[in-house]
Amino acid sequence: MTTHDTPKASGLETIGKTPLVELDASPGAVPVYAKLETFNPGGSVKDRIGKHILEGLVERGEIEPGGTIVEPTAGNTGIGMALAATRLDLGAIFVVPEGFSVEKERLMDALGAEIVHFSGDGGMAAAAQRAHEIAQEHENAVVPQQFSTPLNVEAHYRTTGPEIVEALDGEVGAVVVGVGSGGTLTGITRAVREQVPDVNVVAVEPEGSTFATLLGREREESPYKIEGIGTHDPAVTDLLEPDEIDDFVTVSDRDAHSEVQRLAAEEGHLVGSSSGAASLAARRVAEEIAAGQRNAPYDTVVTVFPDGGERYLSKNIYGHFDEWEGKT
Ligand code: PMP
Repeated sequence: MTTHDTPKASGLETIGKTPLVELDASPGAVPVYAKLETFNPGGSVKDRIGKHILEGLVERGEIEPGGTIVEPTAGNTGIGMALAATRLDLGAIFVVPEGFSVEKERLMDALGAEIVHFSGDGGMAAAAQRAHEIAQEHENAVVPQQFSTPLNVEAHYRTTGPEIVEALDGEVGAVVVGVGSGGTLTGITRAVREQVPDVNVVAVEPEGSTFATLLGREREESPYKIEGIGTHDPAVTDLLEPDEIDDFVTVSDRDAHSEVQRLAAEEGHLVGSSSGAASLAARRVAEEIAAGQRNAPYDTVVTVFPDGGERYLSKNIYGHFDEWEGKT
């Protein structure tokens, strides 16, 4: 379904329209389809929001060409925003918390962004605070705030969601997506529900993450290595809509890691750990639908593989589990 078959004026126009591929490991009766976001020019799902958010800010006059964006990000959002910034004549400064992959940082740097390391306590919320301080020190600078701007959700509502609906002719039984900011899940859900009101919606988080407390579930907080999804502070994002989510499922580091390796060795998908978690969760949901344990309007499950495995080679993602060094 990738339709980049005509010449484009710029790399930004190659964002989106990524392939949707059936997983071999789907239970036969209920195929699982994964949207391969590595096909984006910056290699992740976050290219979509980088383009949409920055274009939106320029259109609304919230930032002028020549200005600077300052964003707290663990990496993929930085790469997506840096890509868009180069094309929109904007500068970019990213506040990067400790513990994330060095490859992402190198790529942000290569795209011309300035990196500010953040090693304080308080995770993303504290990094966001630092971003605001930096923005105040610059003229014509804004903090796009992926965790609160409706433009994040809108990017997926306008692109990722409709692409899924179109590829499956509207026959979407369940949407199973990992949550970091929640933009991907909320935007896809909103678009799919317009066509399929009773689609089953499942959020995926690492074991040790506490988003599910938003639905009143008990969760014990603990460190995890899966990168890009999960939180220890469910209030970190404004973009999740608990009323629209049917279920939260957790995946352990160990299971996500072995699924990443299985996806590479058996199916030829080179993906990161959040894709491993999403794949496993989506397969479980498909099995439950096949066994009549979960209601879904169609016998299909859709998930998203947000980024690629090459981004985590320095963390030994394809090594032994104990060598896989990650965010703790
Ligand atoms: N996986 C990876 C690798 C990511 O970088 C992100 C974004 N933090 C996600 C999943 C989750 O996407 P979202 O922020 O839209 O929930």
